[in-house]
Amino acid sequence: MTETIQTGGSTQTDEAVRYLRDVLRIDTTNPPGNETEAAQYLAEVLRRDGYDPIVRESAPGRGNVVARYPGTGALPPLLLYGHMDVVMAEPQRWTLAPFSGEVADGCIWGRGALDMKSLVVQELMVMLMLRRRGVRLRRDVIFAATADEEVGGRAGMGFLVDHHRSLVQAEYGLSEGGGTTMYVAGKALYDVRTAEKGTCRFRLRALGRPGHGSVPRADTAVTKAAEAVLALQRARFPFRATPTVDAFFKELCRALSLPPDMHALDEHNFDRVMQILPADLAHYLHAITHDTVVPTGLRAGRKINVIPGEADVFVDGRYLPGQTAGEFLGEVRGILGPGYEIESTDMSEPLEDPPGDPLFQTIRSVMHRYAPGSIVAPIMLAGATDAKHVARMGTRCLGFGPLRVAEGFPLEHLIHGHDERIPIEGFAWGIDVLHDIVSEFCA
Ligand SMILES: [Zn+2]
Repeated sequence: MTETIQTGGSTQTDEAVRYLRDVLRIDTTNPPGNETEAAQYLAEVLRRDGYDPIVRESAPGRGNVVARYPGTGALPPLLLYGHMDVVMAEPQRWTLAPFSGEVADGCIWGRGALDMKSLVVQELMVMLMLRRRGVRLRRDVIFAATADEEVGGRAGMGFLVDHHRSLVQAEYGLSEGGGTTMYVAGKALYDVRTAEKGTCRFRLRALGRPGHGSVPRADTAVTKAAEAVLALQRARFPFRATPTVDAFFKELCRALSLPPDMHALDEHNFDRVMQILPADLAHYLHAITHDTVVPTGLRAGRKINVIPGEADVFVDGRYLPGQTAGEFLGEVRGILGPGYEIESTDMSEPLEDPPGDPLFQTIRSVMHRYAPGSIVAPIMLAGATDAKHVARMGTRCLGFGPLRVAEGFPLEHLIHGHDERIPIEGFAWGIDVLHDIVSEFCA
């Protein structure tokens, strides 16, 4: 199945493909991560082009690499960042070995080919291009490839923000979370991540009277925990439209050529449009217009003939911008009623960049050159990225990893799935797109 690389003969593409294949061959499955080897590799590439990269480990093996292209300093820096760690792969379910970096069917294969060693290499290429061309910029451009994003980023971007802030302090940050072609009614749509939901994971504990399994009771801890799971599953949080989703919805309606009276985002129009969307997209839009709670774990009882005194439910909660975690948990308590202890285990604040942001405008104008006729729309991520750490510096974080894919390419099944791979042509196209975004925004 392996073929020789066909890249259209561009040396820039050949170079980028070589770097991506090399980086994919470094197993950075997190845990444990082992990102230092990848950080050293990227540092060596940067060094060959005259950069003076800095590698900082948060713990042995957990390396992060930072490099800076200096501008005049007239404006504050732009941070191009990305994570080098990947989620685990099940090799027996893959067509090609997940850490082989093989090229086949016009794609580069490997765990991290989409999420997100490809964007790290695209950013690396932009750094090399800026320096080779000697571009004069008003902003510094900072490159940061980090560890640990897949497990929360504390050993990666969180570590840099907490302990080496001067290396990554920037007005703007650009990373993953958008930029791949979506198709709506045959039209290409590119999303720019300008918002993220907040995370509020919690442990919910039900208490009850312990006892012998031979004597039934009505309200054991286990029964109460099961009732809580059902209550959360059936809960309907209110529909809420933030400015990001409002802007996305209007672009979506344009793509679908819907009459103008449907473009106003209210619950009624939202429900009407959801009916005509592919199920996956409708599902996603539901998640970014509602707070959500998903029970993902249960723990109770140690012995089958003992009624336990407590039972725990683990819940992945996500809430929309414009409210606090405390308000969100208040809603959860209202759903559950009394009799439960709630302890939050993992939190991150929601983010939302105001519409009309200058970096968004630059992305849109560059995209109109590279993908004429396509729609460029802001979107909210239902999950969270390392932007949660970067935003702690007051940085405005957008997500746009330009990648052009053909209609039908099964992108959403490949990210964190089997046979992850990236089309070479669309990956190479994205390098030029990203270069122009960076150089125009920082000029
Ligand atoms: Zn990622």
